[in-house]
Amino acid sequence: MDNSSEQKFKNKNKYLVEDCYKLKLAHFPRGFLHFKEVRRGEMVLIQGLSYIKIDYYIKSCADTPQIVINFKRNNLSLSQCIKLESQAIHFGLRPYFFCSCGRKCNTLHLRFNGFKFLCRKCNNLTYALCATINRKTRNGELFYRFNRLQKIYDMEALVNYYGYV
Ligand SMILES: [Zn+2]
Repeated sequence: MDNSSEQKFKNKNKYLVEDCYKLKLAHFPRGFLHFKEVRRGEMVLIQGLSYIKIDYYIKSCADTPQIVINFKRNNLSLSQCIKLESQAIHFGLRPYFFCSCGRKCNTLHLRFNGFKFLCRKCNNLTYALCATINRKTRNGELFYRFNRLQKIYDMEALVNYYGYV
């Protein structure tokens, strides 16, 4: 078996991060771990040409802080309770989603055929770039590094554009 077919085999049954809805901590109000009462809100997540509307409430005052999200999928009304973890940093607490597998993460993904927001491991996700190139070959590694550099360059350009620097 040569390297390229091995890579294909390894990525069989994998799904792409780029095809998922992404629920990020940044979508929620700042400092929500310190809220003294239940806070409600709503948001819309967009993926390509489709979107889902999410109603949520944050219970940071409970013994185990959690976010409950309600959304619709294929005409089904779904509800998911996401536990939160916090970690002390220099000035306060940094929240994390606590996936049901026990992983702490910043982003939870909903697969195009899924009914639950889960971490990258649980969803069997990979990035498009990793699925298409083989980093074990010299060309693959070069391509990967070049792509990373390009991403950093693009980000810098964006930051300059908005005048943050
Ligand atoms: Zn998980």
